[in-house]
Amino acid sequence: MPPKRALITGIAGQDGSYLAELLLDRGYKVFGIDQEGTLREPVRLWRIKHLIDSIELYSASVEDYSRIANVIREIKPDECYHLAAKSYVDYSFDDVFSIMNTNFHGTHSVLSAILDNAPECRFYFAGSSEMFGNAPYSPQTEETPFNPRSPYGISKVASFYLARNFRDNHGIFACSGISYNHESERRGYEFATRKITFTVAKIKTGTENELRLGNLDARRDWGYSPDYVEAMWLMLQQEKPDDYILATGETHSVREFVERAFSCVGLNWEDYVVVDERFYRPAEAHELRGDASKARERLGWSPRVTFDDLVVRMVQHDMELASADAELPLSDSS
Ligand code: GDP
Repeated sequence: MPPKRALITGIAGQDGSYLAELLLDRGYKVFGIDQEGTLREPVRLWRIKHLIDSIELYSASVEDYSRIANVIREIKPDECYHLAAKSYVDYSFDDVFSIMNTNFHGTHSVLSAILDNAPECRFYFAGSSEMFGNAPYSPQTEETPFNPRSPYGISKVASFYLARNFRDNHGIFACSGISYNHESERRGYEFATRKITFTVAKIKTGTENELRLGNLDARRDWGYSPDYVEAMWLMLQQEKPDDYILATGETHSVREFVERAFSCVGLNWEDYVVVDERFYRPAEAHELRGDASKARERLGWSPRVTFDDLVVRMVQHDMELASADAELPLSDSS
């Protein structure tokens, strides 16, 4: 049997990099798409540089249908994981056209390219808890109505329904994961968790003396990215396509994350944290907590890494980086 072929859009991102590792481990031939700007600058490939010789990379903007169609015609993937998106929620108020273009039109062009060139290809869409926005209740399930509050959330809801439409009307094996926040040692530095763990490491090693943050009371259902990419793969191995919540079912505040991160290096957070209005959001999502019972029952999936483990892993990793005085990789949005 020839190896299965998988295409990952947004392969240079956090989830793309872990998913590429998982698929290579399982014997897949892995192809990746990322933006030309990302592929041209080696520094932006920091998450996948150890994989470069094992994968094939294509530069393409997901919203460019003809380019995506050519790539899919050439690769003929068995599975496509569509992870490429503008993902930083806070930015979405500034640049709604660009969010919609990449996130919604991008999903449309990938789905259409599959339908036109590789209709047997199984498709995964990366949905988000932001689709629930101002949710009527917690925890949310697959039955909870969407009520997005940011253009990012709206772009994800629209794409989710498009994926469903390609499943119901065109017979595409399309699945969506509605993922709650998931972090890791490869999280972008603009996200709260990574900003905290990297700054804690710099404070501990003496190159920084404060940590400026916004809303410490904000709560998130934070999981570990490698656990979540496993669920993406599992969805595409089922008999029937379906949509699933991916979440831990627990929320923690930014304050708890901060306390835990400082305590990992033996410091008291109150001596270093400064609350700064600049980091407050114009509109904050309500507390979102996911109920992943369906994924547990049908996929046999549950997250392995706990909140405490997550913080410890991220701080330990950043202590190594800070101690080695490592160059800070570019943030994805820079
Ligand atoms: P996302 O907004 O859920 O995609 O993830 P973030 O990691 O960017 O933000 C998580 C929460 O942390 C949000 O509720 C923010 O308001 C809160 N937060 C507090 N201070 C900061 C900060 O300095 N940077 C970021 N990114 N978020 C912060």
